[in-house]
Amino acid sequence: MKDVVVVGAGPAGCSVAKELAEEGYDVVVYEKRQEIGAPKRCGEGLSSSAVDNLGLDIPEYCRMQSMDGALVYSPNGDSVRIHSDETVGWILERKTFDKWMAERAAKAGAKVRAKAKVVDLLPENRGVVVEIEGERKKVESRMVIAAGGVESLIAKKTEVKDQSDLEVVDSGYQYEMVNLDLKDENKLELYFGDEVAPRGYVWVFPKGENKANVGIGIAGDLDETAKHYLDRFIENNERFSKASIVEVNSGMIPVGGLLENMVADNFMAVGDAANQVNPIHGGGIREGIKAGQIASEVASRALEKDDTTKEELEIYNHMWWEERGKSLRKVEKLREVLEDLDDEDLNYLAKKLDGQDLMDFTQGKRLSKLGKLLLKRPKMIKSARKLL
Ligand SMILES: Cc1cc2nc3c(=O)[nH]c(=O)nc-3n(C[C@H](O)[C@H](O)[C@H](O)COP(=O)(O)OP(=O)(O)OC[C@H]3O[C@@H](n4cnc5c(N)ncnc54)[C@H](O)[C@@H]3O)c2cc1C
Repeated sequence: MKDVVVVGAGPAGCSVAKELAEEGYDVVVYEKRQEIGAPKRCGEGLSSSAVDNLGLDIPEYCRMQSMDGALVYSPNGDSVRIHSDETVGWILERKTFDKWMAERAAKAGAKVRAKAKVVDLLPENRGVVVEIEGERKKVESRMVIAAGGVESLIAKKTEVKDQSDLEVVDSGYQYEMVNLDLKDENKLELYFGDEVAPRGYVWVFPKGENKANVGIGIAGDLDETAKHYLDRFIENNERFSKASIVEVNSGMIPVGGLLENMVADNFMAVGDAANQVNPIHGGGIREGIKAGQIASEVASRALEKDDTTKEELEIYNHMWWEERGKSLRKVEKLREVLEDLDDEDLNYLAKKLDGQDLMDFTQGKRLSKLGKLLLKRPKMIKSARKLL
């Protein structure tokens, strides 16, 4: 019998697997795709503060471009330039980054298997049924950790995902483009407004010389698709006229519905599978890896005590909510407020926030400052109160 089966070899699954294998546990990670990390479903942005906080030593070959700031465009075309003299983030190559994460887990002693789809849970979550290159078998384990991303069906087979009725899912679409004119190779470009991306934004994440991930994330329940808005943005911009599309990516982003409970008897969920994503920008690499680290600490203790009941694993809920959940909940509130704003309001905010560190807001910090700004606009008073 294995100690732990991890379902999914994304950043969250590989993070939890590495930590548990380092503690000496017998861990196997099953990944349904034939190649870990491909195709990517990601703009590939990761902040330097996240890299530091997670203690990651990401090799050079996974880091495509360093970022020193951003150009943020309001609906009327005005831009706010955010600049730092230091590197504030990276655009990664997820195909190599995810494989590197899997390699770390394997080097720590975990067994990683691609083209292995988990199709069911065994009774009491004491293992899984896995289909490896067409052949089904039962694998017994003391615990199962679901890290299957936004589409995780395994988490939905437990009480954990039953609670996700309130889940808010954005729709993402992206082209990796070459031969385009970049405004600044070291800055993210972000575009807001009802015309460009209703209840969301368009991004241009530079990935090297004349190369970028050009994508969009918008609410999943609009009449038109994310692709429709992205194509229109590209068609209306002369600087894409000579560009080519070398990769198409799409995916869903859980930008709400943080789960109060992420455990069951002998079972935990981490990463997108537990809706652990930053609700304002949809970034989930950091959240997945962090959750993996927290979950491994709790799982390790539970396995040592030979008590992997829900009651014992609930410590993970408490720890995650203290470390990440509370600030992400504030960010969720900010997203709700921003969704209430029209283009005129956004133009006003962009003007007022010129020169400020907008990254703080995405981490749930200094939100009362935003609230106070909104209070000055009578029609925004109701929204403003949510942030004060
Ligand atoms: C368009 C788009 C752009 C994004 N841009 C960014 C960004 O710039 N920065 C950022 O931080 N985040 C971004 N995200 C979000 C980010 O990609 C995810 O939050 C992150 O990958 C979550 O990691 P994870 O390990 O939880 O899940 P995933 O990375 O989705 O990994 C889950 C893995 O589990 C596998 N799996 C699923 N079910 C099974 C099964 N039954 N058996 C075996 N394997 C299974 C899947 O194949 C997958 O490989 C973006 C998302 C989208 C859609």
